[in-house]
Amino acid sequence: MDWLVFVPIFILGTILGSLLNVLIYRIPEGLSIFFPRSFCPNCRNTIPFYRNIPVLTYIFQVGKRNCCDGNIPVQYPIVELISGVIWGWSFSNFHLQEALFLSLLISLLLVIAWIDYQQMIIPLNMILASGLLVIIAMGFKILPLQESIIGSLVGPISFGGVLGLTYLVSKRQGMGTGDIQLSAVLGGWQGSINIILIFFIASILSLLSWFSISLFMGFDKDRALPFAPFLVLSSITIFLLEFYFRVNFLTFIIK
Ligand SMILES: [Zn+2]
Repeated sequence: MDWLVFVPIFILGTILGSLLNVLIYRIPEGLSIFFPRSFCPNCRNTIPFYRNIPVLTYIFQVGKRNCCDGNIPVQYPIVELISGVIWGWSFSNFHLQEALFLSLLISLLLVIAWIDYQQMIIPLNMILASGLLVIIAMGFKILPLQESIIGSLVGPISFGGVLGLTYLVSKRQGMGTGDIQLSAVLGGWQGSINIILIFFIASILSLLSWFSISLFMGFDKDRALPFAPFLVLSSITIFLLEFYFRVNFLTFIIK
């Protein structure tokens, strides 16, 4: 990895990460993304730019707010760091167009996963934005057109099928329509075989988490877990496996 590329893009990524925090906070509240400037969610005072430096503000202020009592949620530096790694890693491993596509897409997926984790909703505007990005990537031949289209159909068809079946059997809904919309985006990104693998791994992860949470907090058969974080985590895992081990699950299975 080229550190001369990684470090400056990582820093840029942490700055974009603070924008992702703004999206995570403002979208579920129905607030405008662009206006007003950064403010404290607690006391509503504007945060001056020198107290709004990604990751560093959190470290220098030891996690404390400066405008009022209370702590800065640890979500802020974590999202900024993840965003920094996403941008730095993409630009040190891919050409400009691909790197830009990957960084933007994974950033949007991070926002979707985080909002679902906090609020149990998947905002439609984030799905549309990430879907549009996948379509643009098809247009620029960053993604293989035919496989992407098939993937974006296989995703919702298989997810919808499983959702329908679970409902018929148990009269419960394990997933929401947001998860099905997200499967179209992930399928378009990764193709038909991968989206099924992603679904499979995400289901196992979510089941394991459900049991671990139940062990600590007591069993509650009505406890629902958000599914998008597991879907996003699984797609990134599959993507990294393909990248680092040069496996291609599509050709692997066809052979
Ligand atoms: Zn405040």
